[in-house]
Amino acid sequence: TPAYDYLIVGSGLFGATFARLATDAGKRCLIVERRPHIGGNCYTEKLEGINVHRYGAHIFHTSNRAVWAFVNRFAEFNNYINSPKAISGDRLYSLPFNMNTFYELWQTRTPQEARQKIASQRFTGEPTNLEEQALSLVGKDIYETLIRDYTRKQWGKDPRELPAFIIKRLPLRFTYDNNYFSDRYQGIPIGGYTALFDAMLEGIEVRLNVDYFAHRTPLGRLARKVVYTGCIDQYFDYALGRLEYRSLEFDNAVLETDNFQGNAVINYCDTSEPFTRIIEHRHFEGSSSPLTVITREYPRPCSGDAIPYYPVNDAQNQGLYRRYQELAQGTENVIFGGRLSEYKYMDMHVVIESAMNRFRSESRQASA
Ligand code: FAD
Repeated sequence: TPAYDYLIVGSGLFGATFARLATDAGKRCLIVERRPHIGGNCYTEKLEGINVHRYGAHIFHTSNRAVWAFVNRFAEFNNYINSPKAISGDRLYSLPFNMNTFYELWQTRTPQEARQKIASQRFTGEPTNLEEQALSLVGKDIYETLIRDYTRKQWGKDPRELPAFIIKRLPLRFTYDNNYFSDRYQGIPIGGYTALFDAMLEGIEVRLNVDYFAHRTPLGRLARKVVYTGCIDQYFDYALGRLEYRSLEFDNAVLETDNFQGNAVINYCDTSEPFTRIIEHRHFEGSSSPLTVITREYPRPCSGDAIPYYPVNDAQNQGLYRRYQELAQGTENVIFGGRLSEYKYMDMHVVIESAMNRFRSESRQASA
């Protein structure tokens, strides 16, 4: 009999959650991870005494009590609230779009004034591209000041060449509330995400620097089932073609100040800078370091060895993904899960919930 019940490929949030639940239920798990560290894209590392979010700013938020209780088993969360700012031209604006933003744009003070202003600027036809879609949702000023050039940088394409459905909703909030998320629970794990993963994976065997594809057959023999959280097209040797992604480049700098920008996240919404955001990591947890660490975030094409971040969910890629999904459904003893296997942008709480559901249906099958 195989030594393990589950061979888990990837130590990100899906793999780690599944491994914890399975281990708690008495199953034997082995995790293989091709990176030199655990945690997937949530990974944080200490630099100048500050926990740096290596693969982009991660703010935990959820309204799901079971998910919140689960993560609180492994870390204490602080009361960080995400309130990003946006720079466009020589002005600074509040996000998400709310009464503060409307005041900064037009000096409107009441919800009624703001609603009228937006209504007078809306595109009223049937949107045929992202620009028209955004114009119909938020009107000309917000679009041109805060969305147009940011989107162009994010996707490397003119918004008029992008499909309308990329933006389904652009929430407008008619209160003076700069809290980006509307979930019940929100915060940053004190001590960083890597410490949270360390606690979550306690007592579970993890082999770092192991690429599943380099040892597929021998690794496969070690366990009854595989939980695969890597790219779904790679699992099938790209047999049907490659799924398209957007990548990001993170440029870190250590600066000799204890406060560079006064906020964790500032978006750069015009074309004067090629990056889309600057993250100042000390503001997530607070720090007594006399230095600060900032990260400029540059959207990039996903070619060569670039890390895939954002799926390009257009009709062609969705069609291709569905064909891979059919192959996956026909593959016995492999559970496909997580953002890369489902070819979907998912927030952390969504990934945890998805892993919980997959483990529950696994247990049900096993006991049936
Ligand atoms: P991953 O974290 O990508 O983990 C997959 C793991 O599998 C990786 O470690 C990878 O190395 C490993 N792997 C892949 N293939 C192999 C192989 N062949 N062999 C061995 N190992 C392999 N969510 C929020 O809730 N709040 C936020 O503020 C937030 N900010 C984000 C910012 C950015 C820039 C991005 C891109 C995402 C953000 N997210 C945020 C989403 C969050 O990152 C994901 O929900 C989460 O990381 C998904 O976990 P995962 O396990 O599915 O994937």
